[in-house]
Amino acid sequence: MRRAVIVGAGMGGLATAARLAKAGYEVLVFEARDQIGGRLGELRRDGYRFDTGPTLLMMLEPLERLFKDLHRRLEDYLDLVLVDPSYRVYFGDGTVFDSSPNIAHMVREIAHKISPTEVPGYLRLMADLSAMYHAVIPAFVRKQYYSLADLFTPYQISLLVRHRLLAKLWRRIPRYVRDPRLQMLFSFQTMYLGLSPKDALWVYGVLTYMESGEGVWYPRGGMHRIPQAIAQIAQEEGARIYLNHRVSAVLVEGERAVGIRLATGEVVRADVVVINVDAPTAYRELLPPTPYARRAFRNSCSALMFYIGYTEPLPHQLHHNVYFSRDFEQNLHELFAQNRVPSDPSFYTCLSNRTDPTDAPAGCENLYVLVPVPNLTGEDARVAAPCVLETVIERVGLKRERMQFVETLTPHDWQALGLWQGAAFGIAHTFFQSTAFRPSVQTPFRNCYLVGASTQPGNGIPMTLISAELVAERVLGKEGRKA
Ligand SMILES: Cc1cc2nc3c(=O)[nH]c(=O)nc-3n(C[C@H](O)[C@H](O)[C@H](O)COP(=O)(O)OP(=O)(O)OC[C@H]3O[C@@H](n4cnc5c(N)ncnc54)[C@H](O)[C@@H]3O)c2cc1C
Repeated sequence: MRRAVIVGAGMGGLATAARLAKAGYEVLVFEARDQIGGRLGELRRDGYRFDTGPTLLMMLEPLERLFKDLHRRLEDYLDLVLVDPSYRVYFGDGTVFDSSPNIAHMVREIAHKISPTEVPGYLRLMADLSAMYHAVIPAFVRKQYYSLADLFTPYQISLLVRHRLLAKLWRRIPRYVRDPRLQMLFSFQTMYLGLSPKDALWVYGVLTYMESGEGVWYPRGGMHRIPQAIAQIAQEEGARIYLNHRVSAVLVEGERAVGIRLATGEVVRADVVVINVDAPTAYRELLPPTPYARRAFRNSCSALMFYIGYTEPLPHQLHHNVYFSRDFEQNLHELFAQNRVPSDPSFYTCLSNRTDPTDAPAGCENLYVLVPVPNLTGEDARVAAPCVLETVIERVGLKRERMQFVETLTPHDWQALGLWQGAAFGIAHTFFQSTAFRPSVQTPFRNCYLVGASTQPGNGIPMTLISAELVAERVLGKEGRKA
């Protein structure tokens, strides 16, 4: 039996483990922390439960394909519900808007809260983004890149031109909707990748479509149920997962990976090594020196998190809520151009107990707050955290005496998870760090692969699942077997 060692039990690592175990490999997963899931972690305190990172499950297809490939029924492991409205938006001018994947609801909301004249533009936008999404995902995203030539086939060039993929998102959105609030609403999704909507290419409008077209989903029991379910299947297929086992090096002989060394000094030999650690960290700290270790990656921004046990209902909040800065353009400038903690930041809140009442004690709320802030190359978010919390308290209308506790997570904590420069969303999705330019799933060493958000195709749960598909295909293709 051939042995695969996986370094890290994040989404990419676990999905690869399940695929390789299903294909007959002996799979050993070594995870540095005391829980699986990586960024998709869980925090429990005083009767409250919080997902620590991702809260929005979009683009279900890669998850569904994973279960299908593993010969499992998704509904036996996960109870997925569509969250509708997707989220409530608080604009800086006081407008409160409920965003929905239901076109009828959205049309009414736009007509009543913004203007009926904007409705045709919204419908055109969704139609164009939908066409782009269905062309781009198979042609550029779920694709093995062996060389740059794979990026410039005649078909792909025709898509670049037809859908104007390289135009600027910020410039094109106003061609559909004129109201600045709608322009913000249909472009801020790039911040899920830690990317400013002002810098993003039009192709990243696929994120807007994922959310507004396909909807935001939630697994009952919490987002952390997703890695738990995948880990369960991996274990049913024979994989073994070792928590509190930090890997200190990948061992290479000649040009070939032959195993790993644990922080304890123990050596584990393997036929295949798959690294689920952030790519810059993997190249700098785990692999022998290569030019990749010197590559100056541009990193995404980071996230300042507050997990608040709140002892009174917040009836105006939905499961997901977005608060736009009172000056969104200034917010983007401070965050992305000046690398500063914004003076009046936009932020996002999540109350999963709206869908899972047991996530908070009766009459209480598990309030999760995510504030985009600079990574460790910029202003120190630890220093700014009290001031940012004040803004959150003021805008959400919180009462201090009802805040039973506030747990804080800063870019330094994301760095401790292996994320280079504490960039919570990994390396940025610039043009030269996307598609074929993004670090390949194949490292320069034979039998050694990268999986996860900082490799191809990119950041987010669906992308890390696709990255696991790409790795499994390469490993198994070489062996002549299929998951
Ligand atoms: C705050 C936040 C909110 C987000 N929201 C969303 C969202 O709503 N929807 C969405 O789709 N995506 C979201 N994302 C992105 C999503 O979390 C990531 O794309 C995805 O979880 C990354 O998975 P990964 O496979 O790269 O592994 P990671 O989650 O990065 O896990 C890597 C694992 O490797 C382990 N490790 C590191 N070094 C070592 C070592 N030396 N030895 C052993 N183990 C090691 C780490 O402990 C960790 O468990 C969010 C991210 C953040 C930070």
